[in-house]
Amino acid sequence: MIERSNIKMSRHNFDTKDFIDNYTYEGSDLGANYANDKTVFKVWAPTAENVEICLYKYGSEEEAGDKEEDLLRKILMNKESRGVWTWEEAGDIEGIYYTFLVTVDGITRETADPYSKACGVNGKRSMVIDLGKTNPSGWDKDEMNDECAKHPVIYELHIGDFSNDPYSGISDEYRGKYLAFTDSSSTAGNEGKFPTCINYLKSLGITYVHLLPTFDYGSVDETGKIKNQFNWGYDPVNYNVPEGSYSTNAKDGHVRVNEFKQMVMALHNAGIGVIMDVVYNHTFNMDSVFQKTVPDYYYRCSEDGVASNGSGCGNDTASEREMYRRYMIDSVCYWAKEYHIDGFRFDLMGLHDTQTMNEIRESLDKLNNGKRILMYGEPWAAAETTWMRDVTPAIPSNVRSLDPRIAIFCDRARDGIKGHVFEAKGRGYVNGDEKESEEMKKKIMSCVCAWSGQGADENEISAIAPSQIINYVSAHDDWTLWDKLVTSVKDGEDFGRKYSDLLQMNKMAAGIIMTSLGTPFFQAGEEFARTKNGCDNSYNSSPELNQLDWKRAMEYESLIDYYKYMIKLRKSLPVIERTDEAAAECIHFIETEDAVIGFVLEDDNSDKAWKKAVVYYNPYEKDVEVKLPEGRWSLLTDGYNCFEPEKSDILEKEIVLKPRSVTVLYDDEK
Ligand code: CA
Repeated sequence: MIERSNIKMSRHNFDTKDFIDNYTYEGSDLGANYANDKTVFKVWAPTAENVEICLYKYGSEEEAGDKEEDLLRKILMNKESRGVWTWEEAGDIEGIYYTFLVTVDGITRETADPYSKACGVNGKRSMVIDLGKTNPSGWDKDEMNDECAKHPVIYELHIGDFSNDPYSGISDEYRGKYLAFTDSSSTAGNEGKFPTCINYLKSLGITYVHLLPTFDYGSVDETGKIKNQFNWGYDPVNYNVPEGSYSTNAKDGHVRVNEFKQMVMALHNAGIGVIMDVVYNHTFNMDSVFQKTVPDYYYRCSEDGVASNGSGCGNDTASEREMYRRYMIDSVCYWAKEYHIDGFRFDLMGLHDTQTMNEIRESLDKLNNGKRILMYGEPWAAAETTWMRDVTPAIPSNVRSLDPRIAIFCDRARDGIKGHVFEAKGRGYVNGDEKESEEMKKKIMSCVCAWSGQGADENEISAIAPSQIINYVSAHDDWTLWDKLVTSVKDGEDFGRKYSDLLQMNKMAAGIIMTSLGTPFFQAGEEFARTKNGCDNSYNSSPELNQLDWKRAMEYESLIDYYKYMIKLRKSLPVIERTDEAAAECIHFIETEDAVIGFVLEDDNSDKAWKKAVVYYNPYEKDVEVKLPEGRWSLLTDGYNCFEPEKSDILEKEIVLKPRSVTVLYDDEK
């Protein structure tokens, strides 16, 4: 985490009607507008006395050294209405770097352009770019496969983690980079047997990759001078530029833009949509493009000028102020249009207001295919924030104020299934004793209904529809699912040991997510018992601790097979992929003993392989016999083995549920 800033702030008059009426700029042309005969620069700096633009030959001071030819021109910009400063530079200046010198209250600060589309190494200088030049061949036809939106299953992945393992089969040059995604035939150790990376994702059946932050962030030096650096990247610098350390050359501003697009295209070609993790709630530090351009405008502070710190990272941006709200909308739409992004995951969405989130939704919806772009976020903050206006924060109790197509991560289901994320010994439904599992029963039933309809709980979450819920048990934060199981059940004894009882709990946790309404989501490697040796916060740990271990994937192939089966099964079940308000009412719970849960899924209008199915969860460590509802039932999975539909016997009266299992049967007559 970054240390708290000691910058003195003031609320100025930014929230007065006068300021809002006179200085809100509604144009969509902030930044450098490139054409081959001229480039028009526009920057919003209403409090500045002076704004100059500097044009540079080099992308960083370091490369320029003391070379005199570095500074090409320094020009006073023209002040226009609504606090916008402009300059029109004649000629073709593609590839030229630039900064603004903004003078406020007699203090001049040099800053990159908040609306940069490209930049030099480490993002201190912006670059004028002809984006058309960065498109890989075939880009104009690139788009996500329609099937992804019909069957969303989200896989959360860090770009470096994907291929950092030398055993990933990815070439040295592309390992840990955007371009690792362009190798579609990689195998573990190049042995031609076990698929890795994209090749592996195709076989797994997930339909979206959710990438941890991929915009330019500040915690990793892009020059490559510091070896073995790693960070998750929750420390934004340039919001509209891809991170440089994942490119093969961070010094040339074109390369990262082109390589990012190649990555997106490779995922689309593999039938996988691309979701970006976006962190608009705070910046790397307050020595930011925002603070240098319009001091104090973009951040929240208390009456006495203390920077708000609800993010836990030293500052909170102010989505409730018009020009930051506009910035967020512009930025999200820019990624969707320019980079063909299919979804956005909002970090600490609880620090944003529902109006901003709904306006982003509205703006995305207007784009070509925009309605299918996913939006979801963390409906919480790290600590209390200081809002600058009266707003409705995007937290669980306000979920109904969000558009029905904005979803929240459901921490209740997550903790109910495996135990609380902050309590090492905390156990839940799949790893608890009889009493613990019984206590969690109600939460799991709500999870099945995605906290909507009959599953809504006024004291917890009451969603409009399953479209508002992301159901999951693991993400990058806190323990991996495997480590949580080892920690809670085995006292953290041996993370490397292949415990058969924990494997069964892992299967059961995944089985619950895959048979629940809401959008399923899991952390990369959950399907092969990913371990970080008990580390519950690896944001800047070594690449080795974080990376996907492809040898381990081979070792846990039977667990992977279970995930594959359940992902496939989900697509064939009635009701469970529905996102409408009435979906939860098509789930009929069966009366069961104690902690066992059973429910019938029935939808005569379903276009799925089956119109009627029954699902049971047995969290006990023993067999449990249950009476089957009326029907001719054919077993699909007993939680241990998975069957081809036509190959199992018909059951009509009762079934013995195996210990810690998710059992699914379909009605042969429907
Ligand atoms: Ca960076």
